[in-house]
Amino acid sequence: MAYSYDPTNIFARILRGEIPNRTVIETEHTLAFEDINPSAPVHVLVIPKGPYVCFDHFAADASAEEIADFHRAVAGICRKLGISPGEGGQGYRVLSNAGHHGHQEVPHYHMHLLAGRPLGPMLAR
Ligand code: AMP
Repeated sequence: MAYSYDPTNIFARILRGEIPNRTVIETEHTLAFEDINPSAPVHVLVIPKGPYVCFDHFAADASAEEIADFHRAVAGICRKLGISPGEGGQGYRVLSNAGHHGHQEVPHYHMHLLAGRPLGPMLAR
């Protein structure tokens, strides 16, 4: 993959403990914390601990263990927050921005997990 990772990005600094975060879940390979500027009552950012820039970088280069750990962490958050439709919750949305057109601001792969109110259509037309 032709990605170069910038270790000075804000999520890298969170992972190094240089700036604080409100942790929701932490596993061996994954950290989830509250978004500082939430777009919904629940707005959690889920990030791998490894140096991946965006979704396709992570999907291509991360180990199977990291990928499984990441997605199991998302499931764990859904369970913990009671938002899983499979367990009586009202549901949620996950999304990930990549690059310029995706409007990615922080160049460390992250999944947004949004919930807590009806979220409307996926994109404004
Ligand atoms: P994106 O546009 O997909 O790169 O989203 C970056 C997200 O990171 C935005 O929703 C920001 O509110 C969030 N964010 C930026 N800095 C922090 C921080 N220090 N702690 C938590 N969330 C942050």
